[in-house]
Amino acid sequence: MKGDAPAPRVLVVEDESTLAAGIAENLEAEGYVAEVVGDGAKALERIRAREHDLVLLDVMLPRLDGYTVCRKAREEGIGVPVLFLTARAEEADRITGLESGGDDYLGKPFSLRELLLRVAAILKRYRWYEGPDSTGTLLRFGGNEVDFRTYVGTAWDGRRHELTHKEAMILKLLTECEGEVVSRERVLDVVWGYEVYPSTRTIDNFILRLRKRFERDSDAPLHFHTVRGVGYRFTKDPGFTP
Ligand code: CA
Repeated sequence: MKGDAPAPRVLVVEDESTLAAGIAENLEAEGYVAEVVGDGAKALERIRAREHDLVLLDVMLPRLDGYTVCRKAREEGIGVPVLFLTARAEEADRITGLESGGDDYLGKPFSLRELLLRVAAILKRYRWYEGPDSTGTLLRFGGNEVDFRTYVGTAWDGRRHELTHKEAMILKLLTECEGEVVSRERVLDVVWGYEVYPSTRTIDNFILRLRKRFERDSDAPLHFHTVRGVGYRFTKDPGFTP
C-alpha cells in the first residue's frame, strides 16, 4: 500500500480453513489487513460492525449461506463491496449473486493472483465511486432524484428504488460523461474493471432496469439512450418537459 492511507481491511468468509488461511496470508503479503470467519452467521455479525472495506464471501457456508448474508446486509443499508467466491459457477448462480447485492463473482478454483487482482480492482472502483467529482452525491433528472451515497432513487412517479452498487456505478459513470457516448468497453472497464467481462447483454439489462425505474416510457427513453453497436449516452435534460 502506498502513502499514509490505512491498509484496506478485508473480511474473508470461508469455511474451508486451509483455503481461508491461504487467502488471508496472500492478502496480508499485499498489505491488506485480513480477518477470517468460517460461517454465515458470524460473517453477518462482523459485517454489521462496518469495519471492513471489502468482504470475500463464500456461498456454501454453515448456518447462513453467502447470498442470504449479502441480501440481509444490503437490506440493512450496508454497502460494503462483496466479492462472492463459489464453486457453483453457473449462470443462474451468478445472477443470484448479483441480485442479492454482490459486486463481483469469482468461481472456484481460482488463482490467488486472480483473486488479488479482483480485490484491487473492486477497491479502486469504490474509491472512484466515493471520490469527489463534478456530479456530486445527488442527481436530479426528469423529475427523478438519486442519492449516490444511500443508493436510493425516487422516481418521477413517486416510487422509491434501492439501486444496487453496479446500477449506481453505471448511472454515475453515464452522468459524469453526460451527453457523450460511453462505450461498452468503458462501462466494463470502470464498473467491472477486470478482464473476465460479463456479456454485453448484461450491461444492456442494467440499462433496461434503469429505464424501467426512471423513464416515463421505457420504450421511448429520454435519458438513457443506446447507441447501437457503440454504447450508451445519458441525457440529463432532454430539452422539454414530457
Ligand atoms: Ca464453503
